[in-house]
Order: sequence, then structure tokens, then C-alpha cells
Amino acid sequence: MSCTEVLMVGSGSAYSPGRCTSSLIILTPDEYIVLDYGTCTIKALASLGVSLDEPLHLFTHRHADHTLSAGLALFYQGFKKGPRPFRVIAGQDVLDTLISLRKIAVITGSPLPPEIKVEKYPAPGETIGITPRLKITFLPAKHTVPAHSIAITYDDATILVSGDTSPTTVFREHAEKAELAIHEATLETRYSQYEEFTGHSTVVSAIQQVQPARLGILYHLTGSSAREAEEKTANLTHILPARDGDSYKVC
Ligand SMILES: [Zn+2]
Repeated sequence: MSCTEVLMVGSGSAYSPGRCTSSLIILTPDEYIVLDYGTCTIKALASLGVSLDEPLHLFTHRHADHTLSAGLALFYQGFKKGPRPFRVIAGQDVLDTLISLRKIAVITGSPLPPEIKVEKYPAPGETIGITPRLKITFLPAKHTVPAHSIAITYDDATILVSGDTSPTTVFREHAEKAELAIHEATLETRYSQYEEFTGHSTVVSAIQQVQPARLGILYHLTGSSAREAEEKTANLTHILPARDGDSYKVC
């Protein structure tokens, strides 16, 4: 049996005490995947002994707390001889962001940052075959900028990650077939009227979104939503709030 390991590198929102910003490293038997490049992604890859030019990069959206550290990776790689390209599957606005970050790497003294190689522009709902056993589907999300939720399937096991979004029907439907569903829970539930406006989800909504999956994880937490998530999941056996450094095995 082939297993995939999912490492929660950053479980916090942009300003969250004691947490790194959004990032997951997904170690499949065929590819290492970085899903969003938060503040601790480089540190986590280095701890795993994975070189920065190795992973395939997926992004849920272009917001700084999900992308900005990719600029530091591009900066660092520019000091290597003949750096391999930075492989990306993302929408055009994310690619424009990465190209800007590459320019900043040059301005700040990196001799030759790697080229950004677009493997594919995802269309919402489209399933992209990476290898015969590894498939990635980008699902429409509802945020303040273009955004996707992402399903990663290895053989028959699916990992579903919401990115930043208010609750969507499509995520909930896919959670019914997911081994692991990871959903953002940025807002305390008393602020449910702000879900649509902010493109985020409350703790209670996030619990409902991951409910059908075998294991549900809440992330993109703030200090206060983390406290509520701890309380609301205390008696649930298959739904947990994320902590940085947690890992989940999916087989
Ligand atoms: Zn965002």
C-alpha cells in the first residue's frame, strides 16, 4: 500500500500568535508538493532534507500570507549554479505574483533566480494527471481574489484543502469522498455575518464542511478562532484543530 504524508507547516492566518502562515507539504510516493508558500515553508523543507527545487508548487490564491515566502526561495535558489525551474500549477494572477517576487529577488541581490515554469493553468473542476497515480483537481472557492480549493488524489485516497474561502457546496460534496479534508476556520462563529464579505469561514461552518471526511482538520486559525476550534472539537473524534508540525498519513 502506498501512503501519502501530509505535513501541516503553517496552520495560522496572516496574524496569528505562535503559528506560521498557510502552507502544507504533501509527500506522495511520486512527487513532493508544496501547497501554498507560507512563512515556514523553507524551514520545513530544509528540515525534511528536501531541496527547494524539488517540489511541485500549488497555490490556492495570491494573497501574501500564502505566497510571499516563495520570493525568499527564489532569492536563495539564485545563488546556486544552474537552478532548476520553480514548477508551478496556478492561475495567471498567482503567476504574475511569482514573477514579481522573482524580480524582487533580483533587485535584492540574487544573481540568477530560477525560471518559473508553468506546468498547467488550472481550470475550475478540471482534473490534472501529474503521474498515472497522482491527480490534482482545482475546485472553485469563494474569496476576495480568484481562489481555488484543491483535491489531491493518489490512487483512490483524496486529500482536500479549502484554501481561503467561505463555505462552498462543492467542497462539502468532495469531502464525502475524502480521506482527509482540511478547511479554513478564520472567523469565530459569532462573526458568521462576515463570511461572504471576507471570503472566510467560521469555526462551526468549517466543522460542517469537513464532517463527511474520514478525518477533518481546521486551519488558517487566528488566536480566537483557534480557542473556539479547541472547544468545539473537544468531543469530536474525527475533527481536530491543526497545529504547526502536525502530520497526517493517508493510505
Ligand atoms: Zn486569502
